[in-house]
Amino acid sequence: MKRRGLCLVLAAPSGAGKTSLSRALLDGDEFMSLSVSATTRAPRPGEQEGVHYYFKTPETFAAMIAAGDFLEHASVFGRSYGTPRAPVEAALAAGRDILFDIDWQGYRQLRAALPNDVMGVFIRTPTLADLRTRLIGRGDDAATIARRMAEAETELAHQTEFDFIIENRDFDVALTDLRAVRRACRLMTSRLA
Ligand code: 5GP
Repeated sequence: MKRRGLCLVLAAPSGAGKTSLSRALLDGDEFMSLSVSATTRAPRPGEQEGVHYYFKTPETFAAMIAAGDFLEHASVFGRSYGTPRAPVEAALAAGRDILFDIDWQGYRQLRAALPNDVMGVFIRTPTLADLRTRLIGRGDDAATIARRMAEAETELAHQTEFDFIIENRDFDVALTDLRAVRRACRLMTSRLA
């Protein structure tokens, strides 16, 4: 059977475990790859051009918007982020799935751009107190924690716009849930080409 590729969006408040879950989901899955976004923020230590992001100047980013190079773009934490259009369209046409680590604004736009090809998963901790504990545990400073907690409330306000909500209480259980979602999405009748 021939099937169309799927865009699986993972969104979460910062610190909810999204990055670890998406890495684990991609690990050994030859049918799915990660969409690499463009951003105007500076690279963090260890981040590589074209692997974690395509790092752009604000001027280049604006020119890419004008040229229609993005499927979606948004301003997050005062920086610009966007999903390059060409690799996504090529993957979908080839029947390959793509995982997106974008925020709720990007999810809305992506859904509007590709109404039949996008499924959204929101990952959260059971409570905001759990989120704070995780942010403290990973060594963020007090100001960063305060900012991320405020942003988490904004992100959480949009959780019901997603098709699935996974509570990351235990990593292995959350990963099992995420794999189940991905597998179910793959088998949907609507994915037949
Ligand atoms: P960070 O700078 O920590 O890598 O990412 C900050 C936020 O930007 C995260 O919530 C991430 O999901 C979001 N983000 C990353 N890439 C994109 C993108 O291409 N589009 C949108 N809308 N959000 C993105």
